[in-house]
Amino acid sequence: MPVRRRGQILAAVRLPEIQIHRRRFLPGLLVLAVLFALASDASARGQGHTRVHPDWKKHPVTRYAALSAPDCLAELGRRKIPFTTVQSAPGVLAPVRLPEDVGGVVYRTAIAKHLRGTNPYDVFDCRLALALHDFSNVLRAHDIDEVLIFSAWRPPGKQWDDGKLGHRHPGALAIDAYRFGKKLADGQTERTWLEVEKDFHGTIGPLPCGSGAAPPSPSTPEARELRSIACEAADQHFFTSILTPNYNRAHFNHFHLEVTPEVSWFLVR
Ligand SMILES: [Zn+2]
Repeated sequence: MPVRRRGQILAAVRLPEIQIHRRRFLPGLLVLAVLFALASDASARGQGHTRVHPDWKKHPVTRYAALSAPDCLAELGRRKIPFTTVQSAPGVLAPVRLPEDVGGVVYRTAIAKHLRGTNPYDVFDCRLALALHDFSNVLRAHDIDEVLIFSAWRPPGKQWDDGKLGHRHPGALAIDAYRFGKKLADGQTERTWLEVEKDFHGTIGPLPCGSGAAPPSPSTPEARELRSIACEAADQHFFTSILTPNYNRAHFNHFHLEVTPEVSWFLVR
């Protein structure tokens, strides 16, 4: 395990393999999707794509990533984000549930509402919740008020050391977002969704954002809007890592949005 220092690019951060505990109430398909996402995240680092940003210290995600649990929870309170704390979530610094909206947008798994209060995949680290609160500004501008996720937290294995903190999903520091729901108009009963799998129309390899980006093909309005959402979040540095279907086959159906402590790079692929 390399020593991590601020200001240093980590060419090859490899964290321990992560495991999923299959829950009886979790539909098989969701388990598959989560496993797919898990495999993909594990390969998302260490391939020379990360970029040190000259102003990394000033960006929101850098500040959030460095917060202590009490400072972060106090900030959630200041922002009036409804949350409940989670008593035990191995690997997570400041585990919370987000039973209502976070700045006007609900982030949740597809599990039935009455199970959300105990579902491990609906646990978020507080620092991720702050990043999501910022991200909601982008989403609201696109009339989106609900985001479906495969998971935020994915509990680490049983051998996990007491008190050890996880990164990415074992640290509840990332979401895998797969559907973005448009606000219901007056009289409208069925929500319109932007779906990453169906609507992104990406190409594996090219960057999704910036001057070298390949446009969606076909360039549908839905594809352009999903692209805008990811790239607006990237521009404003709400997350350390944004991985889209352009990254690899394993990301064909979701955006991986992550807060990463103790690094000075951003990754948008
Ligand atoms: Zn992920």
